[in-house]
Amino acid sequence: MRRSKPKPWATSARASRQARGYGRAHEQMRERVLVEEPLCRECQAHGRVSATEIADHIIPLSEGGCGERSNYQGLCRDCSNAKTAKEAQRARKRRRG
Ligand SMILES: [Zn+2]
Repeated sequence: MRRSKPKPWATSARASRQARGYGRAHEQMRERVLVEEPLCRECQAHGRVSATEIADHIIPLSEGGCGERSNYQGLCRDCSNAKTAKEAQRARKRRRG
């Protein structure tokens, strides 16, 4: 599957993970976020308790966010998926102009 005929809606996200600031630094930050925020921040805000599974960029790198600790939050998988879906929606709108 990898790199064979990238679908138009799924190109840059995977191909340029490293280039966009993921990689080793992100791995280390992920470890740190999981330790510092063991509970999903979004769920807590809504009175729920879920374990953090994802180190999420509060402002996505694609929207100018940085790789600093202040731009990371702990999210559970559900919240991360919901947030990512919204970001993808915004990205599609941006591309349309
Ligand atoms: Zn959550």
